[in-house]
Amino acid sequence: MTLEPIAEGVLVHESACIQSRSTVVLGATGALVVDPGITRAELAAIAAALRELEQPAVAAFATHPDWDHTLWHAELGDAPRYGTAACVAAMAQLRGGPDWQEELAPWLPPEFAGDIPMELLGLITAVPDASTHVPWDGPAVRILEHRAHAAGHAALFVEERGVLVAGDMVSDVLVPFVDLGGPDPIEDYLAGLDVLEGVADAVDVIVPGHGSTGDQAELRARIALDRAYVTALRDGREPDDPRIGPSAPLEWMTDVHRAQTDALAALRASPLVE
Ligand SMILES: [Zn+2]
Repeated sequence: MTLEPIAEGVLVHESACIQSRSTVVLGATGALVVDPGITRAELAAIAAALRELEQPAVAAFATHPDWDHTLWHAELGDAPRYGTAACVAAMAQLRGGPDWQEELAPWLPPEFAGDIPMELLGLITAVPDASTHVPWDGPAVRILEHRAHAAGHAALFVEERGVLVAGDMVSDVLVPFVDLGGPDPIEDYLAGLDVLEGVADAVDVIVPGHGSTGDQAELRARIALDRAYVTALRDGREPDDPRIGPSAPLEWMTDVHRAQTDALAALRASPLVE
């Protein structure tokens, strides 16, 4: 099944690429599609599933300005695709040069690169200034913007359905990736986790950007795990974390962790000049 229900009127899709999660929230006249997905075939399958549900995409939202969260497919139609203002600014910068597709190409997983529709990547509109909710005709979807992982990162909280769409945090397969270009990578990440913890009491299901969905207890456990990982990075300790090491679900995660540790050490040795 393309879309799997996780709460009343909320369905998710899992991509073959890095277990990326897309979320669909059903509304009065159509669906809100969050972080639509990765390959052309997957995006077209989501569009077909929405047609079958008679819920065309009427709005979309990108949780943050990374390529894997800002894709789109013509078959999903021309609904407004929203993000935070900082997300839009980052995407405009990425698409700014004439060779942006070539520059991005080395970052795409090679086994999927040919199937990723780059042409509509990042065409995001900022939600109106100071919006607290996604502007659409459906259950209220709160925007929880914070500075962890990337500029303009936002979790979405579908309060009346008890669903938290977390973006690239609280994953069971990816360790936290701090934003090395951000003002304070470690403290900003910890503050982002505090934002998620602030709504945890009302969460029944969490949808991470990558990996498995979970319940409220799982959300709390993953917040604790992410916090322990980031705190270990801060303190220069090796984290005790099941997402890295010999039994990690993704074997390349240990290398990514090492690269992150090294980059953070280099940044400390010579801080970026503002
Ligand atoms: Zn991602």
